[in-house]
Amino acid sequence: MNATIIKNGVVLTPGKRAERKDIRITGKTIDQIASVIQPTREDSVVDASGKLVTPGFVNTHTHTGSTLLRGAGGGLPLQEWLRTVMWPAEATFTETTVRAASDLAMAEMIRSGTTMFMDMYHLDMLHLAERVTEVGMKAVLGRGMIALDGRWTERLEAAEELVKTIQSDKSGLLKAAVSPHALYTCPPDFIRKAGELAEKYDVIRHTHVSETAQEVQHHLSSHGVSPCRHLHELGFLTPKTVLAHAVHVTEEELLLLKENRSAVSHNPRSNLKLGSGVAPVRKMLKSGIPVGLGTDSAASNNRLSVLADMQTAALLHAGTEENSTAVQAEDWMSAAWNSGASMLGFPDSGRLEEGSAADVVLIRSDRLHMTPDIHERAADHLLFAAESADITDVWSNGKALMREGSLLTLDEEKVRAEAEAEWRKIAESNV
Ligand SMILES: [Zn+2]
Repeated sequence: MNATIIKNGVVLTPGKRAERKDIRITGKTIDQIASVIQPTREDSVVDASGKLVTPGFVNTHTHTGSTLLRGAGGGLPLQEWLRTVMWPAEATFTETTVRAASDLAMAEMIRSGTTMFMDMYHLDMLHLAERVTEVGMKAVLGRGMIALDGRWTERLEAAEELVKTIQSDKSGLLKAAVSPHALYTCPPDFIRKAGELAEKYDVIRHTHVSETAQEVQHHLSSHGVSPCRHLHELGFLTPKTVLAHAVHVTEEELLLLKENRSAVSHNPRSNLKLGSGVAPVRKMLKSGIPVGLGTDSAASNNRLSVLADMQTAALLHAGTEENSTAVQAEDWMSAAWNSGASMLGFPDSGRLEEGSAADVVLIRSDRLHMTPDIHERAADHLLFAAESADITDVWSNGKALMREGSLLTLDEEKVRAEAEAEWRKIAESNV
């Protein structure tokens, strides 16, 4: 089988010294990493001189279907923003709106080095499953469920249909999740039933929890129990659970997450934009709770760049902890790469090792803002200087999704034109 040899790049992974290495991709796998790999005549060679080589970034929480709401209702706090902007706009969405939004999201994610994402959305997820495999990214897809209208059976059946479809897919790029939206939009018994559905198919449980102090207060006064404890009592906390946000959590709740080996998707830019607060990531990591990074939707971020969220997180926690080493660079890189991939059920992704999945990103380090280009500073450059525009090449499972700055599996101009046209339709129908 012909291989792709990435030559002369500086390989950057958590916990290891950044070093100049060659990497060989054969099929879907990295099968060799060495100081020098001699290509055969059939191999294609990629010159990565002046570039960092990193694993593909992992976005552990997003809503690609709402990407056209980027910038809508800016400045509002979460609950008001959901009620007055997001939900009324989403009620007017058609299949074509959501498809244009998801393509836009995937194009933006690939451009910023993301090869894997977990999506929670309530519309057109069966189509997204197909589209993800065409585009060549990896994804965990769960139908977002809001269950305040009593139509529980309908919601759970649609979620189950998506799980079954994904489990019959043979691409190796998809996994399923069961995703009740939140405790404030799903009654407790519905959350229990959603957990049972996830158990039946052995898939990831995913929900938003304790994003704002107001939400936690409201839950305590109406249910007399903290949100994470409530999820625990409802059987929702398991080693296959990923909780988005967990900003306002107590020590007791952190202990429950630890005991249940549940993971957290940290979404710093969304939490900051909506004024929700700062999740206690240092304490989570110290307790051994797996932490990944998520962008949340473009509506609350407003970007879908895990690199940008990683950089925000590194600054944010150094500042709020008043300690520049409270969370180490390698912890942020793990969150963006291997920890994130493992919590999404892809333990062989998010790493550059022989035998791991070939999710590989090349990032220019010969730019003014990365100079001097010194190996020992590569992690610092990535965390505090790199820009999405420095990313030139992306492979997912060995398939090239971007080469030399051009997307290969999505037509960028068409994606942008369709997104603009769809947004105009929505705007006109709302006049
Ligand atoms: Zn979210």
